[in-house]
Amino acid sequence: MFNYIKKFSFNFNDFFIKSKKIKNKSFIVFFHGVEEKVIDPNTQSVQITFKNFKETINYLSSNFDILPFSDLIKIKNNGENINNKISITFDDGYKNNFEVAYPFLKKEKIPFLIYLTTNFISSKKRMPTFLLRLYFNYTKKKFFYSNFFKEEFDISTKKKKEKALHQYIHFLKNFEYTYIKFLLEDIDILLSASERKNLFEIFKSEEFLEWEDIKKMQDLCEFGSHTKDHFIFNEKNFNNAEEQLLNSKKIIDDHIGKCNHFALPNGNRNIFIENFLMKKKFPYESIATTQKKFISPRNELFVSRMGVDNIDSLNQLKYDLWNNA
Ligand SMILES: [Zn+2]
Repeated sequence: MFNYIKKFSFNFNDFFIKSKKIKNKSFIVFFHGVEEKVIDPNTQSVQITFKNFKETINYLSSNFDILPFSDLIKIKNNGENINNKISITFDDGYKNNFEVAYPFLKKEKIPFLIYLTTNFISSKKRMPTFLLRLYFNYTKKKFFYSNFFKEEFDISTKKKKEKALHQYIHFLKNFEYTYIKFLLEDIDILLSASERKNLFEIFKSEEFLEWEDIKKMQDLCEFGSHTKDHFIFNEKNFNNAEEQLLNSKKIIDDHIGKCNHFALPNGNRNIFIENFLMKKKFPYESIATTQKKFISPRNELFVSRMGVDNIDSLNQLKYDLWNNA
């Protein structure tokens, strides 16, 4: 947030979006979670407040036509006019998409799509990156020995904790998928069972949807896949990729009968991933990334999206629209 404030100490006004530069563009927006209150943005790093969400949606709906995701992809792929047309998506599948965002979107008749991480749906699981942040941010320990890294970590200051946390997140995102289990086992000693239970209660925002919630939202919401386990595609990790891509689709198909779109966890698009996804014919009509770009009326598998997971959501989005136009 602070970067954006530094860059733009003023508020954008409607002049910017109505100016030639942004007028008639088409884009896809993505959110993660929406909560009435965000207690600790550092730990709840993918949650935005309902106030910010409402403000952002109101702004978008008064300046653009919000289409169902599949419709936008269809007309885009046909090369038809997509000027001023946008779509709304959510990643991961948080419970608050149903409890907080959906009632508002339903009232406003705004269609949207949620990319589901299927192994987390109807489970008590939490996202591994959230667990790492939670354990490091709330531990009372000053030192701990890591069996994974075979070294003693000094976490006696905020700075040292952050450094250790980054090392864990780096391994989680850039190495074999099987490491996640060991990384999480490793930090288990940082919180007691009761501390963990209390914190899970406080940070209910990280709970996932249940299949029942998903079925209830089908009047307005489409569902895509975000893999089974928030699987991150990197060069070291292609062994399990096919299973993650295909089985997550099958699970969603089995529950609600339809799943034609996919979003890359972590949004990382690179040459290895592209080659992998293009080589085989995976049964998705689109693959969403987190590359901040507008979309064009062309038949392309990869679609870019503008992310909104910042406390200062609307200004961030306006900044990104302006900066990428
Ligand atoms: Zn995700």
